[in-house]
Amino acid sequence: MAIQVTLLSRSENPLRSLYEAYRTCYSQLTPQQVHQRIEDERIGEEQMRDFIVERLKTGHASPLEQVWFEFAISGVSRAFSHQFVRHRVGISFEQQSQRYVTYKGGEFPYTIPDTVRRAGMDGEMADLFEKVSELYEAMVAAGVPAEDARFLLPNATNTNFKITVNFQSLLHICDLRLCTRAQWEFRKVAALLRSEVMRAEPTLGKYLQPKCGEHRLGYCDESEKDWEACPIGRVRPHKDALFRLYDAHRRGELQPLDEDAWRAIETFDEGGGAVTGG
Ligand SMILES: Cc1cc2nc3c(=O)[nH]c(=O)nc-3n(C[C@H](O)[C@H](O)[C@H](O)COP(=O)(O)OP(=O)(O)OC[C@H]3O[C@@H](n4cnc5c(N)ncnc54)[C@H](O)[C@@H]3O)c2cc1C
Repeated sequence: MAIQVTLLSRSENPLRSLYEAYRTCYSQLTPQQVHQRIEDERIGEEQMRDFIVERLKTGHASPLEQVWFEFAISGVSRAFSHQFVRHRVGISFEQQSQRYVTYKGGEFPYTIPDTVRRAGMDGEMADLFEKVSELYEAMVAAGVPAEDARFLLPNATNTNFKITVNFQSLLHICDLRLCTRAQWEFRKVAALLRSEVMRAEPTLGKYLQPKCGEHRLGYCDESEKDWEACPIGRVRPHKDALFRLYDAHRRGELQPLDEDAWRAIETFDEGGGAVTGG
């Protein structure tokens, strides 16, 4: 079963909600007056967007909690859902129950990871699940309630969610779960959450990045070993490298540009054209 993520609903006007929240903090006007100015089109969308973008560069994050998104998420595994529900703040979950839902004929949907397929072991995994399915059905037929028959079911079993999450929490989830340190299925879900928000509200969607993204920390705060292993490590500095550079700068130990460097600067020709002298 393929993973599906659908944006069902969101704050009616996320930009206006954010603008009103931020403006209330920084204006002599009452929030009612700010609201009225927007209604009267004395404050336009571009002005709101510019103001919000400047605020998003700061650590003033609580207004971001006033914008919310509702998503339907289906076809994810219980291995994913165990991780997902660890997020405690600014997110509400409803998840398909294995107590109230009995799998008809014992047939439960499941996910087989690509690594298992590549190892050529997907057939064995499916055979095992077939046996689990038969025993589940037999137990239910013998009067075992679904809530106890489910003790047989694997982490691979698929499940569905309906969630509501505020923008601040979504940023945090993407910080962690778009990072290549996160598990592949969670990365996939986070990328789908992001593309849904991008489609509906690109001004906000572009901030949903891994924490090393240019709109987030801009550097990697994982271990140097993980940074070296990361495919985007080459375009993101590691925090220790930044500190080493800063310390060297303070001690006046930055490598001076030598003759070779100056020659390279003077003669470098990106376009491959002739370098003229004189
Ligand atoms: C790569 C990776 C590996 C992981 N490995 C493991 C693992 O091996 N075992 C494991 O058990 N979990 C693991 N986790 C899960 C992790 O420990 C967190 O439970 C999960 O990422 C939720 O993150 P959070 O607490 O930052 O998010 P949220 O719960 O959404 O919290 C949001 C923010 O609020 C803060 N916050 C929330 N509640 C409190 C509180 N009570 N007091 C103070 N601050 C609070 C959080 O610190 C965070 O900054 C892993 C996560 C990742 C990304």
